[in-house]
Amino acid sequence: MAYSYEAPVSQTLFDRASQVTPGGVNSPVRAFRAVGGTPRFMVSGTGPYLTDADGREYVDLVCSWGPMILGHAHPEVTAAAQEAVARGTSFGTPGEGEVALAEEIVARIEPVEQVRLVSSGTEATMSAIRLARGFTGRAKVVKFAGCYHGHVDALLAAAGSGVATFGLPDTPGVTGAQAGDTIVLPYNDLEAVRAAFAAQPGEIACVITEASPGNMGVVPPLDGFNAGLKEICAADGALYISDEVMTGFRTSKAGWYGIDGVRPDLMTFGKVMGGGFPAAAFGGRADVMAHLAPAGPVYQAGTLSGNPVATAAGLAQLRLLDDAAYAKVDAVSAELRALVGEAFSKEGVAHTVSAASNMFSVFFTDEPVRDYEGAKKQEAFRFTAFFHSMLEQGVYLPPSAFESWFVSTAHDARALERVAAALPAAARAASEAVA
Ligand code: PLP
Repeated sequence: MAYSYEAPVSQTLFDRASQVTPGGVNSPVRAFRAVGGTPRFMVSGTGPYLTDADGREYVDLVCSWGPMILGHAHPEVTAAAQEAVARGTSFGTPGEGEVALAEEIVARIEPVEQVRLVSSGTEATMSAIRLARGFTGRAKVVKFAGCYHGHVDALLAAAGSGVATFGLPDTPGVTGAQAGDTIVLPYNDLEAVRAAFAAQPGEIACVITEASPGNMGVVPPLDGFNAGLKEICAADGALYISDEVMTGFRTSKAGWYGIDGVRPDLMTFGKVMGGGFPAAAFGGRADVMAHLAPAGPVYQAGTLSGNPVATAAGLAQLRLLDDAAYAKVDAVSAELRALVGEAFSKEGVAHTVSAASNMFSVFFTDEPVRDYEGAKKQEAFRFTAFFHSMLEQGVYLPPSAFESWFVSTAHDARALERVAAALPAAARAASEAVA
């Protein structure tokens, strides 16, 4: 596909980057491989806008893949970070900021009785799995196809067909032994979960699931799915781990837990709680968390865990996220979803706008999508044409048809008007696209 617009400075930077960094990026999806073209190198962000190295401004519908729920460079978050930096950037000792952030998390999310801070969502899920195995004395882990929990070896296992498929490594570098205790099941399929537990009673340490998945596009749990998982786990003595790295502090004040009320044994968090800095966490039942070092025998540690700058920014962001802020993000998302749906309908493009609270994505199919297989059946080639038309018109979307779009409190009428103005041509491009 040829692109009619250019980004010469980004292209030069990408060429330089590709010399010194594999694929030119530090996280694969940034490379635009799914959509083609030159990744934009951003130099600044303000509110709902990003500016690239060529001086072009975009309405940002990625929000750093979730964290920037108040928009970019929010004055109070920036001030909190600046004040923290001025006091010193890392001490390797405990500090009050991390206590305050932990207290804020515990106060917001009732099932979290104790929490341990880490630096990335990957660390959070990796540690939660280790803790679940240490607590139960069991090895096996159930995860769902299409759910992403970071690049944890044991969780990079592909889905097999049928019920209770034992995972095979999804990437070179993950050994059979590392993935061999991972059971990958179809999402939203409680029968498959029941069958896996029936086939190996007393062997499964935990079920880990995205509270509401956003990594195969947005595919919310069917009514009763999370509650069913909890029930099946409890009956067998396994732990139910809800990964709220994406949904936590975004889908409501108490994340997805605040919406479905299903009480997990352990939960993981990241993204929003760091205010744009590397901060993440896992927490849950106090009796389970008591098994974590130094209180208990399951080891886990981090040089920069609870970093004072990250915790100050995260705390400032969380404290600004009151009911009014969530009402605003929800309203922005609803308006955008309506605009997007209208544009595709006008052009006769088969589509489903799939939402979970204020997270949403578009599937290029009119079949309801309830799992990864369904998500993969969409006409993803239409997304490529849509994406590039939006980019050209100054709207930055996630560069993949299988990612959630994110909005913020900063997406005001002007930003939404710019998106609305771009949609008709982009929807036409999607309708004219050929596989
Ligand atoms: N869990 C979920 C649900 C995620 O969406 C992600 C990242 O997108 C992770 C875990 C991993 O987080 P991180 O990229 O901070 O390691």
